[in-house]
Amino acid sequence: MQNVLEIVNWYKNNLRDLPWRSTKDPYRIWLSEVILQQTQVNQGLKYYYAFLEQYPDIQSLANADEQEVLKLWQGLGYYSRARNLLKTAVLVADKHHGIFPNTMEEISKLPGIGQYTASAILSFAYNLPYPALDGNVFRVISRLYNIRLPINEQKNRPVFLEILNEMIQGVNPAEFNNAMMELGAMVCKPDNPKCVICPVSTFCLAKELGSASQLPVKAAKAAKKKRFFNFFYIKYNDGYYLIKRNEKDIWQNLYQLPMLETANELDITDVFDLVDKVKSLFQREILSSGNFSMKYLNSRKHLLTHQEINAIFFEVNLNEQPLFKNNTTLFVNADSLQNYPLPILIEKFLLSL
Ligand code: SF4
Repeated sequence: MQNVLEIVNWYKNNLRDLPWRSTKDPYRIWLSEVILQQTQVNQGLKYYYAFLEQYPDIQSLANADEQEVLKLWQGLGYYSRARNLLKTAVLVADKHHGIFPNTMEEISKLPGIGQYTASAILSFAYNLPYPALDGNVFRVISRLYNIRLPINEQKNRPVFLEILNEMIQGVNPAEFNNAMMELGAMVCKPDNPKCVICPVSTFCLAKELGSASQLPVKAAKAAKKKRFFNFFYIKYNDGYYLIKRNEKDIWQNLYQLPMLETANELDITDVFDLVDKVKSLFQREILSSGNFSMKYLNSRKHLLTHQEINAIFFEVNLNEQPLFKNNTTLFVNADSLQNYPLPILIEKFLLSL
């Protein structure tokens, strides 16, 4: 118990002044938690303020258009989070009269809210004793108790939660969770933990055993799946074409350049094959097109959590305006681009032109 009090006292004297820490509004807390997953605080702050400005409460978010939400989210990645944000807002507005539920059972039913986010909302907004176990907290507990179980294996989670459930008893839950996360973020850092200034160094087994640099343990991850995307920047006069991704896949409901996915990397020196590829793309997407010329522009690699996207960009110049077979294709120019949510890979390509 003494180690818990030391951590909480240290937090009260050293906390960073972050806007979601000075509110009990579950909407703001939830928003910050969803934005901050896999995102640095500095970058997250910008998005947090932008969302609050556009959607100051859950009702305004529930009324939002999905495309606007995706556009505001652009650059954060993990677009399913933005879609779930909107779905949850709609559910809370419709089924819970605009008020976030305050039980683990109810809150866990909302889209995109896992055990960590539920615990964060329940403790920060409602002061209920649910420990929030994120990457920072995993690291602190691994080191304090010299636990060598891989933290990225779901089956080990209960071991960490049991320790935290004991620690959180008898202290303010919101302060405890914030204190553990802050200790991990500011002192017990992944590399070179600052044990000299750590409030619990005298309780820490890793410090005593000299094992901090080996902890936490992570099991080797499966190799990322490689995918090969060939994008066609199809120009006509001063505009070009974007297509909405409807499939249940990465970047669902975002816009991209017309694209062909291939099993392997294209041979960009095989001109005949490339022309065939463009023709097959036209057959799939376009009712009519005149002659075209094309050239290779550049290649980029884009890493997602579980996938490696190998992208090649080609420029295709058309002599006449094509008609498209579907209504998800748009003809745009640089000025109208800000209206459409794009994967960051496509945005960077277009901005580089
Ligand atoms: S003593 Fe060092 S390793 Fe242990 S919790 Fe503190 S910062 Fe982390």
